[in-house]
Amino acid sequence: MRGRSPTWRETRRYPVAVRSTSGSRSLRPEVLGRGPERSGQIDYRLARRHTLAEFRRGRLSRLDVCDAHPELLRAARNIGERTSRECPICDEADVVLVSFAFGPGLPASGRCVDSTAELAKLAKRRNDLACYVVEVCTECSWNHLARTYVIGNSRTPA
Ligand SMILES: [Zn+2]
Repeated sequence: MRGRSPTWRETRRYPVAVRSTSGSRSLRPEVLGRGPERSGQIDYRLARRHTLAEFRRGRLSRLDVCDAHPELLRAARNIGERTSRECPICDEADVVLVSFAFGPGLPASGRCVDSTAELAKLAKRRNDLACYVVEVCTECSWNHLARTYVIGNSRTPA
């Protein structure tokens, strides 16, 4: 069964979290996903396609979709994981992926995860963490949530 599709605004909540004011708001159960598997990955490809369609129809402006927060852009430049996918907006650069982890013991603004080694380390914690992977273009500031998933070691549901 397919869950409710996230609205455009919901898929763009992460910059707010990155801005350090309300990271914990992102940790709603429906964002984390439920199910037998802990990983609970949610893919936002459909939402992305929808956002791009709205942009092409003129219902969203370039300012709406190319609004990456300076912190996000800096993370993208410094530790972004390169891809070979062209930016869907400006075609000037390939998008990069930036990962953030949110959860107990981490800054409210989330922690930038810059390597798989660090991700593995975070996954050993007792508490579950929510990971957000954001696609960013450092040329035009296009950004979109790519996927979210949960890592962690917790055994007993609350
Ligand atoms: Zn771009």
